[in-house]
Amino acid sequence: MKFKKQLEGLQAYKPGRTMEEVKKAYGLSEVVKLASNENPYGSSPKIQQLLSEGGMDFALYPDGYAASLRESTAKHLGVKETQLIFGNGSDEIILLVTRALLSPSVNSIAASITFSQYEHNAKIEGAEWISVPLKEDGTHDLETMLAKVTNDTAVVWICNPNNPTGTLTPSKDIYSFLERVPSDVLIVLDEAYYEYVTVSDYENSIPWIEKFPNLLVLRTFSKAYGLAAFRVGYGVGSEEVIAQLEPTREPFNNTSISQQAALLALEDQTFIQQTVQQNTAGKSQYIEFCERHQLRYYPTQTNFILIDIEQDSDRAFEYLMSKGYIVRSGAALGIPGTLRITIGTKEQNDGVLHHLEELVTKEKV
Ligand SMILES: *Cc1c(COP(=O)(O)O)cnc(C)c1O
Repeated sequence: MKFKKQLEGLQAYKPGRTMEEVKKAYGLSEVVKLASNENPYGSSPKIQQLLSEGGMDFALYPDGYAASLRESTAKHLGVKETQLIFGNGSDEIILLVTRALLSPSVNSIAASITFSQYEHNAKIEGAEWISVPLKEDGTHDLETMLAKVTNDTAVVWICNPNNPTGTLTPSKDIYSFLERVPSDVLIVLDEAYYEYVTVSDYENSIPWIEKFPNLLVLRTFSKAYGLAAFRVGYGVGSEEVIAQLEPTREPFNNTSISQQAALLALEDQTFIQQTVQQNTAGKSQYIEFCERHQLRYYPTQTNFILIDIEQDSDRAFEYLMSKGYIVRSGAALGIPGTLRITIGTKEQNDGVLHHLEELVTKEKV
């Protein structure tokens, strides 16, 4: 058949093994998942309330414009409602951007290593992929990325903080990049971990959109808000950019229940503050561990940490899984020898670090 040539050799996203599979494989009664940067504290208690209330008419299509959620999000961010596009997770916004802008005649630029979905979707559209290695400290090398921009560059991706390193590229560097990059190149600033950032010189990028209409900021309800199962993410941009993206969106891409859940979650900022506070405490457990064992780690501004364990990361991953802790092996992310661990509750962190300690104090394998 006549499938697109660029699909040759492309693999489907491989999710890690489910908790049920791991329980069965290792005969465990309990398994802790610290692999996908989900919120270990769940989500706002208001969501459970919503689900127990019921009363929704499932026969009706959802509001395709997500009007209530849109109104609240616009207020929350201080933007116009027409500056927002909602997606089935911000993953879908990434897909829509590539659908709207990428083709075999253009190129797209991102860091290496970064979130894999940019490259994956760009390749499906047949665009030339240009990747620029991260700097030694794990932040974006924006000067080199800028130098790689050509007349054919359609989209540049900046993941900030970056997944999987957790590192933050300074706001002033991104601003300076925006001032110098051609205004007909769309800059996607993926801020999936925005809520977790605690450094004081972090600037909110959304007001920048006024000066840079080619900036599209991505945020999500999947991480700090703890609603990954509901699949709600969004893009914030200039009215021109949003108007160009909207026709690529499916008419009913967010369910009624997920729109309501996201709206309630947005209203509960106390939950977010508590989440961030607990995450900051959890982060220090890992940093203390790394320093005690003299392991290199990337300074993280997220709810995960990438640690250089100086040994085969696939084997370490298997070992931790056999003890009931699912993490991500750096080998699967393109940084072998490291583990990416989602920061969990204090007890979960103690548990995984106890077994990691067995590994790093044993003779190096
Ligand atoms: C998790 C994640 C996303 C996708 O989140 P959705 O669940 O699709 O909203 C996007 N970008 C980065 C960097 C992520 O880590």
